[in-house]
Amino acid sequence: MLDALSERLQSTFARLGRGGRITEADLDSAMREVRVALLEADVNFRVVRDFIARVRERSVGAEVLQSITPGQQVIGIVHDQLVEILGGNEEPLLRAEKGPTKILVCGVQGSGKTTLAGRLALHLQQDGLRPLLVATDFQRAAASEQLRVLGDQIGVPVYAEEREAPAPEIGKRALAEAQRSGATAVVVDTRGAVALDDDFADELADLADEIDPTEVLIVVDAMTGQEAVTLAQDFDDAVEGTGIVVTKVDSDTRGGAVLSVREVTGLPIKFITTGERLEELEVFHPDRFASRILGMGDVVSLVEKAKESIGETEVRDVARRMQRGEFDLEDFLLQMQQVQEMGPLSGLLDMLPGAGQMKQQMQIPEIDERFWKHSEAIILSMTPAERRRPEIIDGSRRRRIAAGCGMQPADVNRLLNQYREAKKLMQVMTSGKGPGGLGKLLGL
Ligand code: GDP
Ligand code: MG
Repeated sequence: MLDALSERLQSTFARLGRGGRITEADLDSAMREVRVALLEADVNFRVVRDFIARVRERSVGAEVLQSITPGQQVIGIVHDQLVEILGGNEEPLLRAEKGPTKILVCGVQGSGKTTLAGRLALHLQQDGLRPLLVATDFQRAAASEQLRVLGDQIGVPVYAEEREAPAPEIGKRALAEAQRSGATAVVVDTRGAVALDDDFADELADLADEIDPTEVLIVVDAMTGQEAVTLAQDFDDAVEGTGIVVTKVDSDTRGGAVLSVREVTGLPIKFITTGERLEELEVFHPDRFASRILGMGDVVSLVEKAKESIGETEVRDVARRMQRGEFDLEDFLLQMQQVQEMGPLSGLLDMLPGAGQMKQQMQIPEIDERFWKHSEAIILSMTPAERRRPEIIDGSRRRRIAAGCGMQPADVNRLLNQYREAKKLMQVMTSGKGPGGLGKLLGL
């Protein structure tokens, strides 16, 4: 999913963070790379221009150049701006206040409308509604048959007519059927044209008038890039959309459509689909999507897992201390022990935001069992006062600690450096502004 873009952004930021402090020239050249990466991913040029300008402005305002972890800070800003162009908060599917929730699905031919209609029916069913699927497409020979097969698969009734009739009329009769059968949701599939000509626009508008839909979802095929975004705008002009669904995000797509469509049309992305199976429908979370693009892993899942195995209050407690910068060596030790308890490390690390970078900054060659054991032994060999106030550890204390656990003073030094890096990273991550908005997730 957006692999090429994702890899380019990540390698740009990895380079930016490597040498500690950065200059304005470093920032400029990183921004140039980001710009090229976005344009090559087929993101709308105006969206790219505004995006870069905002990231630059925030970076200067946040005094990234003075920061000790500039790379991390820039990623945090880029993440926030990505979330912004993706629409900020997630926008749930609207529900009708009275009568059935009615969804009209429209878009060009082959974009994935009929499949989406089936997916939405399944989604609504899982939400406790009783959907009715409606076929209005006579253009393609087997169009209503395709919808019937989908309906059968999920046990949702399908309203279709044998003889060709204008879509608005079918819509009207379908609503009557919905009322008769007590359906609480109606999903109307439409025919697709190759482009949106006047006749087709009129037909859709009439259908929408007849149905009075709660949602008009415009389907955007990620594989067709900018063109799909332009078409979405045309559809919006014709039928007044309420939301966008981007399909085929799993394909080897460059990603431009997903990243542009919100800014260009002003409509929220409500879902993305990521495969041919019906279940491959995802409620669109701008935040999680931005994290994925930047390789920050799935923080949400990580936090869920942590809460499960460690206990929610404890997780929040440590996170709050991190946020205040009170994270001491006792916390560091506790955290290492907890992380070990949570299960196989390799799996966990994939979920950890910026795991690759963290390993790099903390200069940990490989986080394995030995690494944990050594770190633990060093901390356990310290006095409580040293653990709480690591800054008091001088040369002679270092020698004593090393002797106490059978290691070298240099090992103690390394651990202290790792602890300091971890503390800095934790502060950025839990600030709510940082990657993944960990603080927000934890309800801080
Ligand atoms: P319609 O003409 O707009 O109704 O499009 P269809 O629903 O018939 O879908 C066209 C093709 O795209 C079908 O082969 C679908 O299986 C496929 N398709 C739809 N959504 C996705 C998706 O998210 N990923 C992939 N890989 N294929 C999809
Ligand atoms: Mg179709």
